[in-house]
Amino acid sequence: MSIIVVLILVAVLGVLVGTAFALVRTRSRHDATLLEPLADAPGVPAAVKDDVARHVASLDVEAEAEAVEVDAELAAAVDEALAPPDEVAVKPRFRDRLGKARSTLSGYLTSIGARSQIDDTTWDDLEEALILADVGMESTTAVLDALRSRVKAEGLTEPTQLLDALKDELKTRLAGYDRTLHLAEVAPSVWLFVGVNGVGKTTTIGKLGKREIADGRTVVMAAGDTFRAAAAEQLGMWAERCGADFVRGAEGGDPSAVIFDAVERAAARGSDLVLADTAGRLHTKVNLMEELRKVRRVADKGAGSVSEVLLVLDATTGQNGLVQAQQFTEAVEVTGVVLTKLDGSAKGGIVVAIQSQLGIPVKLVGLGETADDLVAFDPDEFVDALFS
Ligand code: GDP
Repeated sequence: MSIIVVLILVAVLGVLVGTAFALVRTRSRHDATLLEPLADAPGVPAAVKDDVARHVASLDVEAEAEAVEVDAELAAAVDEALAPPDEVAVKPRFRDRLGKARSTLSGYLTSIGARSQIDDTTWDDLEEALILADVGMESTTAVLDALRSRVKAEGLTEPTQLLDALKDELKTRLAGYDRTLHLAEVAPSVWLFVGVNGVGKTTTIGKLGKREIADGRTVVMAAGDTFRAAAAEQLGMWAERCGADFVRGAEGGDPSAVIFDAVERAAARGSDLVLADTAGRLHTKVNLMEELRKVRRVADKGAGSVSEVLLVLDATTGQNGLVQAQQFTEAVEVTGVVLTKLDGSAKGGIVVAIQSQLGIPVKLVGLGETADDLVAFDPDEFVDALFS
């Protein structure tokens, strides 16, 4: 009698556990974890235990597959950021990307344009607008002095004429520089990229590499920022994606040696161009500048020659960029500026300050994060975009 009762109880328990298991078998690994102790409970039939064990094992495999899927999604997202498919690549227009910088000026320009005459308030507003746009005190004073002379000489009386004269003045100040990226007479040419951390050096090399390769040149990318392992990883990804050769050294190693090796490799393989990254931070600024001098010397020593030293500046840092530019130009002879993140900057006027105070041409500007957002700087398009 008692044996029959026990058998009935075991059968009922088995059915209950089996039903509970069936209910949750399509759910997550977390549910399976809950099932494991249940399956070990006394009185559970062996067949149900086996079923639970098999199901838990299958969920492990599913969880692993899910993780792989997530990794693949991440890699695809990185790929898209590094090299978006050509069909979505559209050359960006200054007009569309300078919204922030334009909004800094627009309130002032509208109120100046709406006045009936050019008076002291007009000049004060103009000065405030230029300072806010980060044209800088020195350049603002020079621009306003030139405008005052022009207003007098040409007998301008309308504020709208004054605004047209301002546009003209800015275009004239920005014009007249050689913005070509020069190649050495004998390949390989070396383009060195200098600038503090985070300004966009590595990304700029990637973007430019893609462009140069599309133009038919063979490129070696040199991971001269040995101070930051992530920088080399990032540059390596760019090189792989756009079909450039890639040279890196040991973490903390000598950047000059890495760049020298890259130049030798380029010469041996008949490559046209070495795009060399450098560190943006060292233990002290003196160390950094010393290192850059050495990198510049060594890069010129072997089979190639340095034909561009491009200082990369972040447009969102405004006048601070001017201070950086002064420091870097003391260490190495900078041949041009790449002004990144102009799309996110409310301070487009820094372009005027850099060119008029340092006499260095802005050669390229970054108008976004994707590869096709690095474009040649066009002063007329730039000024029109700020004022339109
Ligand atoms: P590095 O430390 O100087 O090498 O700087 P990175 O190349 O790593 O760039 C730092 C960040 O700036 C990255 O997230 C880039 O995608 C971003 N960046 C670079 N250029 C631009 C640009 O022109 N516009 C925008 N919006 N972001 C940029």
